[in-house]
Amino acid sequence: MKANRLIYLPLGGAGEIGMNAYVYGYGPEDKERLILVDLGVTFPDMDTTPGVDLIMPDMAWLEARKDRLEAIFITHAHEDHIGAVAHFWGKFKCPVYARKFTATIGRLKFDEHGHPKDAITVVEARPDVVKAGPFDVQFVPVSHSIPESSALVIDTEAGRIVHSGDFKLDEKPLVGEAWDANMFQAIARERPVKALMCDSTNVC
Ligand SMILES: [Zn+2]
Repeated sequence: MKANRLIYLPLGGAGEIGMNAYVYGYGPEDKERLILVDLGVTFPDMDTTPGVDLIMPDMAWLEARKDRLEAIFITHAHEDHIGAVAHFWGKFKCPVYARKFTATIGRLKFDEHGHPKDAITVVEARPDVVKAGPFDVQFVPVSHSIPESSALVIDTEAGRIVHSGDFKLDEKPLVGEAWDANMFQAIARERPVKALMCDSTNVC
């Protein structure tokens, strides 16, 4: 039997701004159970994509493996992180998890598309844990320009991953929650962090 492995596959968002969509997988090769973090859109620009309304990530890889997709996690309600969830959900029909503000925005989109709003589950921040196949996922409040933005702590047998999402190191933000360095120190003390997937734009 093949050994379990932990995989990370950006379907969008890496090396570009917008349409964030990141797959994590854990299990034997080609049988990994999968989660998707964010599913956003990109807004076109007149120089490279004139006449286009919205640009979606290419979900063909994940659609071909949708029976292995455990859940979708949405870090925050900016369109480049949530904008394509309602568009693609009908192909996946898996549970979607988000904190309350993000879930509320997501449910409005689901309603527009005729999807059941209860497909989106409201999750409280850490220490609450969502179990999705081999993954234990916690939402960690971070400072950003929209309420209830979160990093994710993603635990598997292979180790702990911190997925930053969009964030800024603002301890007194006008909108949303403060950056809490102690929280991240506690996360690293609790269990060594195997990998940090860190957003690198200033704002989105
Ligand atoms: Zn953002």
